[in-house]
Amino acid sequence: RFDVSPPWLERVVGGKPRQVVHAVDGVSFDIERGTTLALVGESGCGKSTVARLLVGLYAPSAGTLQFDGRPLDAAARQRLQMIFQDPYASLNPRWTVQDIVAEPLVERRLARGAELQARVAALLQSVGLAAADGVKYPHQFSGGQRQRISIARALATEPEFLVCDEPTSALDVSVQAQVLNLMKDLQRERGLTYLFISHNLAVVRHVADAVGVMYLGRLVEQAPKRALFAEPRHPYTRLLLDAIPDVAMSGRARTPVRGEVPNPLAPPTGCAFHPRCPHAASRCAVERPLLRDDGRGGRTACHAVEEGRI
Ligand code: SF4
Ligand code: MG
Repeated sequence: RFDVSPPWLERVVGGKPRQVVHAVDGVSFDIERGTTLALVGESGCGKSTVARLLVGLYAPSAGTLQFDGRPLDAAARQRLQMIFQDPYASLNPRWTVQDIVAEPLVERRLARGAELQARVAALLQSVGLAAADGVKYPHQFSGGQRQRISIARALATEPEFLVCDEPTSALDVSVQAQVLNLMKDLQRERGLTYLFISHNLAVVRHVADAVGVMYLGRLVEQAPKRALFAEPRHPYTRLLLDAIPDVAMSGRARTPVRGEVPNPLAPPTGCAFHPRCPHAASRCAVERPLLRDDGRGGRTACHAVEEGRI
């Protein structure tokens, strides 16, 4: 379980002081061990902020961050690692692959000498690369192979939990599938838990066990994957699903979409989705809906759902 309590405006650690990034407000979710929770939403909804808060790249300006009922401190963060969207930007171009993958082990003094070399070789093999690839540099690899190198590095310290921010969205579609399948295999073999951030619902449908939908810094719906795709409750979730043709549900009218995502730093009052929502009532502009259990293992924050209007 993770809890991010309000009010939140984050700052980049070591970055420009008071640089404000997308606000996240009162986001809380459970992920069963060994499974994948996907966080989805349009750009600016705060999903990357959640990822960066969890691994400590952003520091909260207020509120608390909890993991398994305890503050998410440095010790708890040892159990977490992150995989980024752009494998090239996140790999030092002047280092050999061996040095890149070894870095977390060296930094935490977990291995050295022959043992370090053997562990790096095993890590490279576990992601489908050859031990001999260790002497090469990142630019000598394709995008998919570079993402495999990032995954090997993330696995070096044997984390339980991987935060993956759009890990395949920079890759060609055919390569995406290979990397996603590798991630699934590694999850099974190692019992890994994933928080998978993505705007791509086709990818989410492939990898997730459960899905959380974020809108302007808040979770608006969370449900097991099957339930969410078959029967989305929140109007925003319906809007997202309607946007992908192969997932659009037969026999259900498409939700008309209005407008763009508002400025996340000045969200609308009440339900932040109300200016775009086809089901908005007067109550929606003033009263913020809370997440309520929906009786099918999920939660939805919507007045119209609660009132049985939709
Ligand atoms: Fe739409 Fe109101 Fe539900 Fe918000 S609370 S999604 S505005 S119906
Ligand atoms: Mg992002």
